[in-house]
Amino acid sequence: MAYIDSSNKIDNEDKKDKSSENKGCIFCDYAALDKDKENLILARGNVSYVIMNKYPYSVGHLLIAPYRHTASLVSLSEEEKLEIFTFSQKSVSILQKIMNADGFNIGMNLGRVAGAGIDTHLHLHVVPRWNGDINFMSVTAETKVLPEALDVTYRKISYERNTWSAS
Ligand SMILES: [Zn+2]
Repeated sequence: MAYIDSSNKIDNEDKKDKSSENKGCIFCDYAALDKDKENLILARGNVSYVIMNKYPYSVGHLLIAPYRHTASLVSLSEEEKLEIFTFSQKSVSILQKIMNADGFNIGMNLGRVAGAGIDTHLHLHVVPRWNGDINFMSVTAETKVLPEALDVTYRKISYERNTWSAS
């Protein structure tokens, strides 16, 4: 499933002091900033958050990541596991409702060899699919940047406040 972001470029502005381990990690940077709308963060939980992929494989491609900088699936706490999976359920529910998605690809690329664009901070992909959409593998070599669509989609998805905040 090598369908992740083509870029992990970071803006130099707004950088905060970081340990060398997570320096330049966009998942850490975005979580630390107070610019959720600009960064397309949709929901924040206690230990994880939901963000739109800025280099989506398809419209409505969401990413769910722990706040904690880790590449290790095995290291996830019970709370992290529960919240990340709960966010994936909410993502599916919302994307079905507002985008009429017919199906989903949900998964993680662990490690560069598995196709992770950012392999130091794990994240769960939620990719909506529609009957008749382009073959999954045929578009993986090329990411599509759809800034207008991202903005519109962000607004639509963030209207679903009740679902995101439900416990
Ligand atoms: Zn990180």
